[in-house]
Amino acid sequence: MANREIPYKIYLSENEIPKTWYNVRADMKTKPAPLLNPGTGKPATAEELTPVFCKELVDQELNNDDREIEIPEEIYNFYKMYRPAPLVRAYCLEEKLQTPAHIYYKFEGNNTSGSHKLNSAIAQAYYAKKEGLKGVTTETGAGQWGTALSMACSYFNLDCKVYMVKVSYEQKPFRREVMRTYGANVTPSPSDTTQIGRKILAEHPGTTGSLGCAISEAVEAAVTQPGYRYVLGSVLNQVLLHQSIIGLEAKTALDKYGVKPDVIIGCAGGGSNLGGLIAPFMGEKLRGEADYEFIAVEPASCPSFTRGVYAYDFADTGKVCPLAKMYTLGSDFIPSPNHAGGLRYHGMSPILSQLYDDGMLKAVSVKQTEVFDAAETFARVEGILPAPESSHAIKVAIDEALKCKETGEEKNILFGLTGTGYFDLTAYEAYNNGTMTDYIPTDETLAEFRSHLPKIG
Ligand SMILES: *Cc1c(COP(=O)(O)O)cnc(C)c1O
Repeated sequence: MANREIPYKIYLSENEIPKTWYNVRADMKTKPAPLLNPGTGKPATAEELTPVFCKELVDQELNNDDREIEIPEEIYNFYKMYRPAPLVRAYCLEEKLQTPAHIYYKFEGNNTSGSHKLNSAIAQAYYAKKEGLKGVTTETGAGQWGTALSMACSYFNLDCKVYMVKVSYEQKPFRREVMRTYGANVTPSPSDTTQIGRKILAEHPGTTGSLGCAISEAVEAAVTQPGYRYVLGSVLNQVLLHQSIIGLEAKTALDKYGVKPDVIIGCAGGGSNLGGLIAPFMGEKLRGEADYEFIAVEPASCPSFTRGVYAYDFADTGKVCPLAKMYTLGSDFIPSPNHAGGLRYHGMSPILSQLYDDGMLKAVSVKQTEVFDAAETFARVEGILPAPESSHAIKVAIDEALKCKETGEEKNILFGLTGTGYFDLTAYEAYNNGTMTDYIPTDETLAEFRSHLPKIG
């Protein structure tokens, strides 16, 4: 048994919660490519973005220069209700695997929304309130983002309209009820409440919806109603900025014990938790102060990094959002029936895309059944029932720890445990019943969607 000098949970005190977010773009030599106005093909200006997004969030979106951005007191006070999040030393998992590696995970599931998404939801709701808006609109797939945003909006007394992908709306009634309890208005998407929704319904009757389609409806609802703006829970630069709190806390905790992670692993849907977790470490790597290995883990069924292309693409099916340069499978990629709902987006954060293109970050894809094998191993020894999304990171952390067993290396492995899986029991049921399958798109399928990419640059 390892000598257990480092506590199982490294908690920080309340006043050790970072006072500023860290903006990794300030340290990137090649900045992420700018968002483009789909009409002009030119970089979207602040004026063009403000009808859609809140003003201060637009400033954060476009800010490539300021390394540190102060966390307003109102947001900080909310953070204190559920942060700092613990950094856990996975002694029991290490023992189970009989590995010489030291495994740490940053647990972001200790709040009602059950994920890290609250870190950005509260920030976005605060800026909307400060601007004097009536409310915000958004989409949600699996429901974690919608839940987080409902909590944030009820705290600041803002109206919250959530377009929820129809299949999830029907299959996840409990998530829906949590959102309604926090006062959100939840509409299954596509719906007849928007033009784009009516168009999609007419073209594809009986469709169960997609994230890209729900985004288009939420954007339309925001720009057509005075006093509303659209907010997004991942992908954007501002979201990665807010999520840097994950990495800053993790680094402060590790520094206390003089631990330097060798490998840092996170699951990647739109890239927000991974971008937040690695941010301060990546900063050191970019500045040449330290070296780390970073690994993004994505589902084999939605492999944006490992099988996508780096190109300008639409963020949504309705093609109403600005174009973003990112690793993408194409905006009308049809997500497969994968149980990790939070990892089914066709694109990837422009910041992470640029870092990946620069070789600063690796990516691997993993199959659904092996992800649930890892989730089960983890739950049985560490006690926490992990979200399927988070379990992608667990899978690769276990793989890395097993490699250390072969080589005898005592590597320090850090991974992001983004949330809990209480609302994913249908997925666990399929796994336990042995009916879960693996879906891997063929090259032909991917080429077909890729051929629909907008022709730019
Ligand atoms: C949404 C979500 C993710 C994926 O989103 P990112 O923006 O890539 O972080 C991962 N884990 C959980 C629990 C989520 O809710």
